[in-house]
Amino acid sequence: MVSRVIPVDPFDLVVFGGTGDLARRKILPALFRRFQAGQMGESSRVIGAARSDMDAEAYRGFVRAAIEEFDPQAASDSAALEEFLGRLSYVALDAKGTAGWDKLAGEVSAGRIRAFYFSVGPGLFGDLAQRLHDYGMADHDSRIVVEKPFGRDLASARALNRGLAQHFQEHQIYRIDHYLGKETVQNLMAVRFGNMLFEPLWNSQYVDHIQITVAESVGVGGRGDYYDRAGAMRDMMQNHLMQLLCLIAMEPPAKFDPDAVRDEKLKVIRALDPVAPDNVVRGQYQAEGDKPDYCTQVENPDSRTESFVALKAHISNWRWAGTPFYLRTGKRLKDRASEIAVVFKEAPHSIFGAGAGRHRNILTIKLQPNEGIELGVTIKEPGPGGMRLIDVPLDMTFAEALGPDSADFPDAYERLIMDVIRGNQTLFMRGDEVEAAWAWTDPIIEGWEERGEAPQPYASGSAGPDDSLMLMHRDGRRWREIKP
Ligand code: NAP
Repeated sequence: MVSRVIPVDPFDLVVFGGTGDLARRKILPALFRRFQAGQMGESSRVIGAARSDMDAEAYRGFVRAAIEEFDPQAASDSAALEEFLGRLSYVALDAKGTAGWDKLAGEVSAGRIRAFYFSVGPGLFGDLAQRLHDYGMADHDSRIVVEKPFGRDLASARALNRGLAQHFQEHQIYRIDHYLGKETVQNLMAVRFGNMLFEPLWNSQYVDHIQITVAESVGVGGRGDYYDRAGAMRDMMQNHLMQLLCLIAMEPPAKFDPDAVRDEKLKVIRALDPVAPDNVVRGQYQAEGDKPDYCTQVENPDSRTESFVALKAHISNWRWAGTPFYLRTGKRLKDRASEIAVVFKEAPHSIFGAGAGRHRNILTIKLQPNEGIELGVTIKEPGPGGMRLIDVPLDMTFAEALGPDSADFPDAYERLIMDVIRGNQTLFMRGDEVEAAWAWTDPIIEGWEERGEAPQPYASGSAGPDDSLMLMHRDGRRWREIKP
């Protein structure tokens, strides 16, 4: 199967923070792969911008090293890499100053798509928007891409939205959540709304509960300073897990268009009940072997920040009243594995008798490390010995079902950056969605702060604190095993 590449119009893409970690690891390699795929037309260009003083040649060397380090396979195509580097330039500027901005304005061309990727800390978003306006780059052809975190609470998210709205209209603002760019996340919508099979069962009458797990095996790494001020709730739950919850729970939009989809997602967030304190569990990882504990790693011995959070959510609407949603995310867990599991109810009556066992269908949407969808169905165990039931997976791992090339689809950043150029906001968060998500998470965080609650320690390499297991056990349910 050969993936189709739809050309995009010529563009200038400015990466503010073009020397930063995210640019090196994700954005620049993603752009190179789109270039290799033939999606970056002949006149499209990428301009790095940051304070570091260097010329275009030095920046090309920097980008070459980044691509060689983070995508050695793509970088082995040295002819393509050299050609791509030829499309790159660099402008040294300060988001808070004036130096360099005239030069940038001269570098980007009027009358073509101009995208400005704000890959800098959120404290600079307002300054960048203001400067783009002051130097005549905030016109109807321009759009801005903003990274997470979009605020740290409702008040700061509102302030950010207000700051950006002074110079850009909502249809020009792309708030990125790279989970939405994953192939399987879009496939989730295809499975739900492209088949007759699932949607009639997609409600509290047939679904017992839904589990969403985003488990990481690594610790906070080099981002300890940022992470310790954020924690799992702000860093993961408020954005990535909430977005997955919305896509699973939303009503069918009338069309697959940005506002129709985002209207439905917003309704889900607004229908979420407040979460009672005993329905949330926070944890902090302990040391393991030569791997330090959380507090040592973030160099804050008294840190009360959570590296793990699990919660039970309820959506108060006709479709979902009575079906709990269990969400968990954390670092230094058993494995790196992210999935959504839709656990259906048992058949109301077994005609095979108690000995045959009772089974549940589970639809699992796997997001990482491997993307795919699996449906567990119950069949008779083959062979003699009477009617014994077993579960077998109907596995829709893309590579197996569609051939090896099918696993070669663009990664989330590639897809999302190209969506920005195309002007398609479907997979980006709208300002009101982000604010509604904060409005739901703020009281949970404020409750911890008011009660002075410390997170529970959990063993590195485990499934999180024991209380998170209890969160489900006490409802007669259990988390699925964390495994890739
Ligand atoms: P980083 O490594 O600290 O890079 C920050 C970039 O901003 C650097 O290129 C820096 O270059 C530039 N910069 C800083 N102050 C500036 C100023 N006053 N004017 C112009 N440029 C300035 O940060 P990062 O990890 O790449 O993160 C960037 C954004 O992405 C943040 O919002 C972060 O939360 C978000 N994000 C990062 C990751 C990740 O894995 N890294 C994941 C998700 C989201 P100079 O020092 O040369 O100016």
